[in-house]
Amino acid sequence: METLELHGPKAPAKMPMMKCGHRAQGYRTSPGEKIPACVICAGITPDAYIVVPEPNLSERKARCSTCSCEKASTANLAFFEYRPDQEHDWFYCGCRGWN
Ligand SMILES: [Zn+2]
Ligand SMILES: [Zn+2]
Repeated sequence: METLELHGPKAPAKMPMMKCGHRAQGYRTSPGEKIPACVICAGITPDAYIVVPEPNLSERKARCSTCSCEKASTANLAFFEYRPDQEHDWFYCGCRGWN
């Protein structure tokens, strides 16, 4: 049995960056195994379970997917998506609320 587990408020804040471009938000657990997983991409791409080295974001900008405002990239932005194949990364600034 394999289950996806969203981490609760006590989980470590710093989750690894996953190959799909998201920071992991949970774990894939099966007997004897607990690996970080991107819950957004789980079931869509195997990249959701592959940890990649922390990217260097210092020269990069992230663009809000809704209003196109830009901020310096950090992996802690909401809905941050690291897109090394594109000119900028994506995030969501909260401009349309959080519901
Ligand atoms: Zn993902
Ligand atoms: Zn926005």
